[in-house]
Amino acid sequence: MRERFDLQTNSNNRTHFSDDERGLQFRHRLPHLLSPPPPSALFSLLSLCSLSQMASCVEQVSLETVAFMELAVHQATLAMDSLEVPVGCVIVEDGEVIASGRNRTTETRNATRHAEMEAIDVLLEKWKQNGLSEAEVANKFSKCTLYVTCEPCIMCAAALSILGIKEVYYGCANDKFGGCGSILSLHLSSSEPLISGGVSRQKGFKCTGGIMASEAVSLLRSFYEQGNPNAPKPHRPPVQKI
Ligand SMILES: [Zn+2]
Repeated sequence: MRERFDLQTNSNNRTHFSDDERGLQFRHRLPHLLSPPPPSALFSLLSLCSLSQMASCVEQVSLETVAFMELAVHQATLAMDSLEVPVGCVIVEDGEVIASGRNRTTETRNATRHAEMEAIDVLLEKWKQNGLSEAEVANKFSKCTLYVTCEPCIMCAAALSILGIKEVYYGCANDKFGGCGSILSLHLSSSEPLISGGVSRQKGFKCTGGIMASEAVSLLRSFYEQGNPNAPKPHRPPVQKI
């Protein structure tokens, strides 16, 4: 069920990316607006799983998980509409979406503005304004679940681990930069600890991939097939469809 998006594969029905484009491909970013759920969002399981995925989807993924992932996909669609690499996410606490984000690396001209970072910063700012202490912020994150369309990169996975997020669900794997199993396994508390001030702050988190992976890959594939308008010059022409 876990669909991989192999950006290096160059075959008749795959897209090949230049080295420059590979550098850009997962610089996701996102804005934080809590967009309302798309009309088709809630609990339409049939539209969320391909037929080949249906059996395992029904068995392993709750309707709630799929519904929240569809909101993340909606964020990725908004990124696509803004000519950003289409990756999106939402953060959920007690069954409620409390932050969302999409890739905004081009708009901000900041390669670190991935979807996860945008959503995290929304919460940090809100909780800071509410006067929460560091311990209270840590407690809040320990109750939060992230739904993101693409496996968090190493940077984002490390941040999520340090913050102590409870759980992460993602769509497609990130074979180049993935920090939740593809390249590193920063979600595992037993992985190499990050030491800050002499104290290990890496906590790890439960992580499940492959949720609506085909939708996530579809968006990424569409983005690159139409030619990334933000790719460095000279950039390749759009892939010719056979
Ligand atoms: Zn990232």
